[in-house]
Amino acid sequence: MPLLVVGSIALDSVDTPQGSRDELLGGSAVYFSYAASYFTSVRLVGAVGEDWPVEHTRLLESRRIDTRGLQVVPGGATFRWRGKYMTNMNDRETLEVHLNVLGSFDPVLPDDFRRCPFVFLANGSPAIQLKVLDQCIGPRLVVADTMDLWIRSEHENLVEVLKRVDGLVLNDSEARLLTGEENLVLAGHKVREFGPKFVVIKKGEHGAMFFSEFETYVLPAFPTSTLVDPTGAGDTFAGGMMGYLAELDAFDADSLKRAMAYGILVASFTVEDFSLDRLRQIDRRDLDLRMDKYRRMLSFDA
Ligand code: AMP
Repeated sequence: MPLLVVGSIALDSVDTPQGSRDELLGGSAVYFSYAASYFTSVRLVGAVGEDWPVEHTRLLESRRIDTRGLQVVPGGATFRWRGKYMTNMNDRETLEVHLNVLGSFDPVLPDDFRRCPFVFLANGSPAIQLKVLDQCIGPRLVVADTMDLWIRSEHENLVEVLKRVDGLVLNDSEARLLTGEENLVLAGHKVREFGPKFVVIKKGEHGAMFFSEFETYVLPAFPTSTLVDPTGAGDTFAGGMMGYLAELDAFDADSLKRAMAYGILVASFTVEDFSLDRLRQIDRRDLDLRMDKYRRMLSFDA
């Protein structure tokens, strides 16, 4: 099944203990799309400026990513983000954000994108996420991402988004900020009370937690010793998870658990190099090989 994603498209500059890079291909929707394209065809909606290198569009198109929803704004500049990771690689500081074309982004879904059964609202303003939802016709599964910035600055719109989505993906500090609850198990269920049927809390190197009315569980991260740049780990987690669900055309409890595992595995490759560099070297077989190791790692006799 095709999967629609709307979110940021960026040129990122990152500083990690492993090195610094400027103007890398990034953005929530880019990371998400690339990860999801191991599993299903993706329809990408976002905005870039005239400075957007055309080879980035070609790279996306070389995967199963339909870029007809990519708006190139005449005279505009692409969104820029600059981040620095601390030595533990878990904490990061945003040093610069230049919204540029993202500041006036008005998402317009091409007609045939509107009936996409699987929809992901990647990190972006809740006002934009609502505009996307208004254009979608009869989606079967809608999942959103969010971040601290929107929890603080657009709380009302975010609450509206939460009433209209099936699932929410956010990280541990964001779940605490949204609910005022320190205990993550309680926080996860409190987020559900805003509306989503399921909530995933990402915990970086500690994996991800899942919450629904019937289930609460945690899956560990896949232990990789090569940690170069964590940027995009969260977005590629979501891309792997949603891509797998769209491929399967299912979102029952067992499928969701396997989808979480695929998300964790795609993210474990993402962090092994800058930008999409590591993901560009791997294919579906590499994911499945890592899935075998991950399964063995998690199974034991009672
Ligand atoms: P992640 O590491 O998965 O949390 O996501 C990192 C990506 O989020 C980077 O590629 C950034 O370009 C993008 N990003 C950072 N800040 C924002 C923002 N305010 N709105 C949308 N995307 C953002």
